[in-house]
Amino acid sequence: ELSQRMSERAVDVIKYLMKEGQMMKPGDVIDADLAELIATEFGHTVKRVAESDVEEGIFNVKDDEADLEPRAPVVTIMGHVDHGKTSLLDAIRHANVVSGEAGGITQHIGAYQVEQDGQKITFIDTPGHAAFTAMRARGAQATDIAILVVAADDSVMPQTIESISHAKAAEVPIIVAINKIDKPSADAQKVRTELLQHEVFVETMGGETLEVEVSAKTGQNLDKLLEAILLQAEVLDLKANPDRTAEGVVIEAELDRGRGSVATVLVQKGTLKPGQIVVAGDQWGRVRALVNDRGEHVKEAGPSMPVEVLGLNGTPSAGDRFAVVENEGKAREVSEYRQRLSRDKAAARQSGSRGSLEQMMSQLQDTGRKEFPLLIKGDVQGSVEAISAALDKLGTDEVRARIIHAGVGGITESDISLAEASNAAIIGFNVRANAQARKVSEQEGIEIRYYNIIYDLVDDVKSAMSGLLSPER
Ligand code: GDP
Repeated sequence: ELSQRMSERAVDVIKYLMKEGQMMKPGDVIDADLAELIATEFGHTVKRVAESDVEEGIFNVKDDEADLEPRAPVVTIMGHVDHGKTSLLDAIRHANVVSGEAGGITQHIGAYQVEQDGQKITFIDTPGHAAFTAMRARGAQATDIAILVVAADDSVMPQTIESISHAKAAEVPIIVAINKIDKPSADAQKVRTELLQHEVFVETMGGETLEVEVSAKTGQNLDKLLEAILLQAEVLDLKANPDRTAEGVVIEAELDRGRGSVATVLVQKGTLKPGQIVVAGDQWGRVRALVNDRGEHVKEAGPSMPVEVLGLNGTPSAGDRFAVVENEGKAREVSEYRQRLSRDKAAARQSGSRGSLEQMMSQLQDTGRKEFPLLIKGDVQGSVEAISAALDKLGTDEVRARIIHAGVGGITESDISLAEASNAAIIGFNVRANAQARKVSEQEGIEIRYYNIIYDLVDDVKSAMSGLLSPER
């Protein structure tokens, strides 16, 4: 390969190596230093580049402030099971199908767009925080706003609390939708009061979190919910440059019998067009067609628009980043690099190299951040509160624990994914992880620490933290 790149005959390179006392045959691996020596010897100028440079100029390309234009907000609906997430997504979609299209085909592609007052809103069509956090764990933040659905005839439940933690950890603003307001037993006020205890302060309680009472069943106030989303979006001042090569995130992907690989992507920057070559995760391909959420072929997809991409040569994973590249050679290079990266990561996971308290501490020291995220699960509310308070007290000006989620109950898969996305350690107090959570934590190399004495727990965190303090202390 080296001789090829230098446009020299392989036999000449091998001869040279022999002269230098190195017996080698074509296909043998040489290291970078030797390669540099040979290339120089053959009269070439060597420029060393890091392997990761293959992605330079493809992902996270910065834009000029002047090129930015307003874009639609991207919304995820979260909340406890049976509180009406799916119903709400369906109701919003059906109430806002452009007239004339009613009864037309609506396709599930993983995300859809509706219009309110002439402005577009994009909904991620997979309710719940699991998908949200799984994407975040892969480094993709797709969501701008989280709708927290709480049923007015029920109360704040474990997954409501989880959703709050997941949204807060991602620093995504929450809008509260108090659902099932049509029910005689609905008590919206009770929901508001309960939310206070979880530091969600809605407007009518003097806070800043927008709230709307809705019914997914009767359609009551759905327009108010959409207006609240647009209001929140205005505050966020969401912008993107549509006039550049496209970049974004994969929402879902599957292998379709008739159509081949079908990936739904959310364009976040630029404009995607058929014929372009894209890299998505460690897959790539030429865009054969773009299909919108109504099953129509489209000529382009701009910022915040979800589309199905046909033509990839494999199926990427939800949460993978995608980007347009200039040619096939580049696409191949990037996807090969990413495949190597995934293999290396899998190997690192095998050896369990992430998530232990000590490793986290040293990582934090590397990045200079003096704050470390913890996820705490305990058997009773009292002990969880006591632990949170004790850890809070440990904090100094220099270093402190940041509790991203504290809850009652066993450690679940959702806890693992939140910890993974936030680089947090998990602490279980008098609780264990369930089988599924144990499996995922082992796969992802996330360490879970179990305690049954608060003193031991606090002591461990304290000694880990003292390793973080600057030397003069
Ligand atoms: P999810 O698990 O959060 O996605 O909840 P679903 O959307 O599946 O709803 C759970 C149940 O609540 C279903 O039987 C719905 O018909 C019902 N439901 C959802 N929204 C409303 C509502 O606004 N009013 C009433 N009365 N029932 C609702």
